[in-house]
Amino acid sequence: MKKILIVGNWKMNKTPSETEAFLKALLPIDFPSVESVICPPFTALVIAQQHLRYSGFLLGAQNMNAHDSGAFTGEISPLMLRELNVSYVILGHSERRTLFAEKDEDIRLKLISALEHGLIPILCVGETLEEREKGLTEEVITKQVHAALRDVPCPSSLVIAYEPVWAIGTGKTATSAEAEEVHTKIHTLLQGLYGMQSAFIRILYGGSMNPQNAEALLQEKHIDGGLIGGASLKAESFRELLTIAQRLS
Ligand code: PEP
Repeated sequence: MKKILIVGNWKMNKTPSETEAFLKALLPIDFPSVESVICPPFTALVIAQQHLRYSGFLLGAQNMNAHDSGAFTGEISPLMLRELNVSYVILGHSERRTLFAEKDEDIRLKLISALEHGLIPILCVGETLEEREKGLTEEVITKQVHAALRDVPCPSSLVIAYEPVWAIGTGKTATSAEAEEVHTKIHTLLQGLYGMQSAFIRILYGGSMNPQNAEALLQEKHIDGGLIGGASLKAESFRELLTIAQRLS
């Protein structure tokens, strides 16, 4: 059975000192059956790495450039992340797609580069409210998954996060049935691409997951964990989420 994966995406929140205060409030905790990841801003990766050592938590980044080095002002490379013991990297988050004009092909190149450097990509896909209301959810998800994985041989490690854009940071969550319907489609898509080898790929739900709705979502067959924004910013709510995941494991 796959371990439930809980990933906190802090977005552009928490300075290094705030990160230290958060981790001092959170740790030590022991949830051996849950894979727990925190993705702080780049500037807090060093302090987070120091505090997370021996904690059982893994470290993630929220984005990266596809190149190893070069004239890319303001960017961070996979080599830089690896040197800080970063294990996961979020790619194609809807905020990157809409606010920073990231295209499917940019995301594909980043995904290939992440895999080459031993980082586990968390590929985000999801439809807007307008697309959902037009009945385009399956089409949008299929296009995003196929575009990001085009010509990518079955990766040794990969996570997909289904994040309906209308549920991110809005307090509106997909019902567990709505989420499960899309997760099942993603599961089938991955089987189509990689056959039995796709079994290890975890599919997370993201979009206003919190301690009130997590249990119902995490009980669904094809929901393997959560990508959590707002509720990962407070030590108490993040701990509650991890407690729920541990109980369901
Ligand atoms: C996210 O940013 O990936 C996210 C799911 O945010 P929130 O939990 O705040 O909706």
